[in-house]
Amino acid sequence: MEQRVHRIVFGYYSETWLYQVNTKEQLKPMSLAVTPEEFSQEMRRKVYCPECATPLTRTPADSSISTNSITAHFRHGSSKRYPESKNCNLRIKTPDGLKYVNEEYVKKAIEAKNLIVVSGWKQEPPTLDDDLREDGEYTKTAIEDELGPETLVPIGRHNGQEYSAPSHISTVMALCKDFPSNLNKGFYFPNSQYPMLLSDQLYPTRKISDDLPSKETLFFGVISEYRRLSFRHVVEVRSGDYTFKLYTKPEYNERKNLDATSVGRYILFSTKPYWESKQSIVAAKLYHWGAYSVLPRKYDSLIRQLEA
Ligand SMILES: [Zn+2]
Repeated sequence: MEQRVHRIVFGYYSETWLYQVNTKEQLKPMSLAVTPEEFSQEMRRKVYCPECATPLTRTPADSSISTNSITAHFRHGSSKRYPESKNCNLRIKTPDGLKYVNEEYVKKAIEAKNLIVVSGWKQEPPTLDDDLREDGEYTKTAIEDELGPETLVPIGRHNGQEYSAPSHISTVMALCKDFPSNLNKGFYFPNSQYPMLLSDQLYPTRKISDDLPSKETLFFGVISEYRRLSFRHVVEVRSGDYTFKLYTKPEYNERKNLDATSVGRYILFSTKPYWESKQSIVAAKLYHWGAYSVLPRKYDSLIRQLEA
């Protein structure tokens, strides 16, 4: 998957939080998440990195100027001036995944919930309880299971070391809950090569090309059509030159409030797609309960950043 050039999906804008006066923990509750597109002049010098809490600048600096050549983005200040930003995950380019020096670092990252391990997607809904609200918001906590199945997570890039860690979540719904925080966390998915930031692992269906991914991939795209077949419902997703069809179970969709009224919404799903009709229709079978979710509308502006 190609590396996005600009890695800061959103910044925290605050009128009251001050760098080196307030603590990093205070930043989130005292701020509003804003994307580079939502930036306006009164936010100047008041937007901070969600990870290292240092001031960010917006390029181009003037929000009223629209340029064709530069995509609006946030960037860190100099690491001399803001030393906390030096090792920020959102500054460092990590095409080969997040690196952990040894087992102890992986363990710490997992304990601090900065690295989340997914062993697989839940096949069936866990209970008969309503775990999804009317607006599509997941009601379970982001960490669904403190002690899920053990999964081997690769540590270094070349040394072949692995660490056996408990998996913590097993649904795409949990990824969509508190989505902004999850974007900047490390995730290790089934069949992944390395743990990587979630924002680096979301693949826009818009960019599907002739070469389909050779392994299971986490996709996102806008629902363009919803069709009822006798036993399966088909969700169509906007996808560049092709039709992208998702085969789903009607009873699961109903519980997820996914139907014809969801057209225009973003859907996240994990799958290894296949050609249904060579070079024109891409398809995937999403029969596992945990493998897909409609994104709550309030995060639309954030995920749009990842389509660029
Ligand atoms: Zn940062």
